[in-house]
Amino acid sequence: MAAASATRLLNNGCRIPLLGLGTWKSDPGVVGKAVSAAIDAGYRHIDGAYSYMNEAEVGAAVKKKVEEGVVTREDLFIVSKKVLGELFPMRKGRVLVSDADYVDTWRAMEVLVDEGLVKSIGVSNFNISQLERLLSVARIIPAVNQVELHPYLTQPELVEFCASRDIALTAFSPLGSPGRTVLNDSADPKDLLKDPVVEVIAKNHRKSSAQVLLRFHVQRNIATIPKSVTPARIQENAEIFDFELMDEDLQSLLTINKNWRVCQLTMLQDHQFYPFNDS
Ligand code: NDP
Repeated sequence: MAAASATRLLNNGCRIPLLGLGTWKSDPGVVGKAVSAAIDAGYRHIDGAYSYMNEAEVGAAVKKKVEEGVVTREDLFIVSKKVLGELFPMRKGRVLVSDADYVDTWRAMEVLVDEGLVKSIGVSNFNISQLERLLSVARIIPAVNQVELHPYLTQPELVEFCASRDIALTAFSPLGSPGRTVLNDSADPKDLLKDPVVEVIAKNHRKSSAQVLLRFHVQRNIATIPKSVTPARIQENAEIFDFELMDEDLQSLLTINKNWRVCQLTMLQDHQFYPFNDS
């Protein structure tokens, strides 16, 4: 169980657990049970966001586990996010985007650290040029950049850039977000879990495709946050610290890159900084 809380050091001295639970699309009434199951399975990192509209229930489940003495609050790395703008107000079918500059938002986030309200601050869906612009003015270097990352979207330049600046990466949609209907604007749906290369590696290690896809990240010191509301899958996704992919496996997984994004965020296409995530 302890292995599920394997961590990587952040540039501010804090540690991020490499495995976290994703909570987007985990409905109220269900997400709390998922968080409880994850903590019981050894997860110490929970990924949330205001826009997932379930943070109160996530918080209540965490509080209960702390009160039960299963974990302490200090054991847990809890992520929240705020989108640029409000909660997707729409006009004529298009999201009304904020004209706030993320540099100003970042300065406000730095104050949150100064005031002790948060420990680590980071960004999400930032590409290299956006990171460079931020780094040229930031007092506090982002601890993490959370982006879509998996063998169909390996983003080698962004991975290398973040490594060179000691910015940790968190890989979202690590399973390719199978079966996603919400905000799935990929014109070319793909099933990463059924990729033959992934399946062969999984068979060789007597693991599932999902476990191989998650191990792919943790072995590269990248945190990952698979979402599940299914207790058996939450457990399965935690069982990735008892095997090791060989160099050939990692290389094979890198060769199936298709620059395919499940999360194109086209709803935000009117934003001055769109696209956020092309490197
Ligand atoms: P994932 O790649 O994590 O896939 C989640 C889907 O996979 C769910 O339908 C889940 O089903 C299913 N699943 C989970 N485990 C298994 C398994 N072992 N075998 C087969 N199927 C499985 O996609 P997400 O897009 O949800 O990404 C993960 C998290 O990343 C999000 O929940 C969110 O926290 C974060 N995120 C952040 C974004 C950002 O812009 N910063 C954007 C998108 C995601 P079930 O739940 O029914 O078990």
